[in-house]
Amino acid sequence: MSDTLLLNGLAPIETRSEQPHSLSGPRPAADLPEKAFTSPGFGYWENSGVTQDQWDSSTWQLKNRVTTLAQLEQHLVLSEEERAGVLLSGNKLAMAITPHYFNLIHPTDPGCPIRRQVIPRIEETWEDPSEMADPCGEDSHMPVPGLVHRYPDRVLFLVTDRCAAYCRYCTRSRVVSGAGEQELHTEFEAAFRYLESHPEIRDVLLSGGDPLLFSDAKLEGIISRLRAIPHIEFIRIGSRVPIFLPQRITPALCQMLQKYHPLFISIHTNHPRELTTEVRAGLERLANHGVPLGNQSVLLRGVNDEPDIMKSLVHKLLMCRVRPYYLYQCDLIQGSSHLRASVHKGIEIIESLRGHTTGYAVPQFVIDAPGGGGKVPVNPDYVLMRDEQRTLIRNYEGKVFEYPEPPPPLH
Ligand code: SF4
Repeated sequence: MSDTLLLNGLAPIETRSEQPHSLSGPRPAADLPEKAFTSPGFGYWENSGVTQDQWDSSTWQLKNRVTTLAQLEQHLVLSEEERAGVLLSGNKLAMAITPHYFNLIHPTDPGCPIRRQVIPRIEETWEDPSEMADPCGEDSHMPVPGLVHRYPDRVLFLVTDRCAAYCRYCTRSRVVSGAGEQELHTEFEAAFRYLESHPEIRDVLLSGGDPLLFSDAKLEGIISRLRAIPHIEFIRIGSRVPIFLPQRITPALCQMLQKYHPLFISIHTNHPRELTTEVRAGLERLANHGVPLGNQSVLLRGVNDEPDIMKSLVHKLLMCRVRPYYLYQCDLIQGSSHLRASVHKGIEIIESLRGHTTGYAVPQFVIDAPGGGGKVPVNPDYVLMRDEQRTLIRNYEGKVFEYPEPPPPLH
């Protein structure tokens, strides 16, 4: 239904008169799906003889990652699409799943939002003419191998091509995991010299791959070198390790990181089930050491493209002291069409959150402009009309308001 609003001779404006989003009803927030924090424990490894000390060791978790079809089929009933996808994954992006994360996978449901993120499917071989190997145009903005300088005052420093587990929609699948066509050969010394000689760079984002896979000593070597450059004000780390491998968030790592503030960490979480009690403990440890935490999610079909799921996720993130930061439209990465949700879905999700829940819980929805245009914010249309006298806006309930511009100065 729509109403027509006529204001002071302005052209008729279509406004929405429907009730607020149906998700905004008075039901308790705890009733949202997958809202509770739980621990998968040893899960599929219950009878394997693993000890608690081994389980809690990031080294053990990495050594015991699930990487083969036979290992998968020990525990899961796979679909034909998955089986074929796993057999082909060695040519593109490797498969690897830590035991902690694997335990979140449903054994029989091929629609499980966790398995859709990490188990390859045959659709990854489908070709879509709009898809690209390097959808964000990073390779064309590298003054030094491994250093992307696209925005004026900040750089992206790709320090490794390895991750604790591999996401099937990864923007950098061309280099990540070492299985694809390209290799990452970061030139560290040349990168540090470039940063030293460019005083306009004040912000460095360490990413990859996942920097938190480095040992404390190796990571500290990079961070301390950056901190020695006077014009670098701000260091960020992008990491999915707190989700895939919470055992890596040790007190020693946190104590090392807190020497280099201001240092922020952007985690990457897509579904509320990923926020286990172990993950929450790791995030709290980082926060207790003064590390501000933000989350980046990728909008994925069949994973988090439902308002209720995203609402659970952002609420749980706040409970973990993580600010939802970005919701990304999935990049046009080759073989991702089965995982990409529509832009319309993303806007619908933001609309279901804005005004209906805590402002801190609402991420910015962005599209990374294909080919290298950078992040572009995409929002529901709350501004209905603007001229020199007034701005017409609607609120989260669809009610329309007029905000008058200030009068002109007297002289
Ligand atoms: S953790 Fe990040 S870099 Fe690694 S595979 Fe996932 S999206 Fe790609």
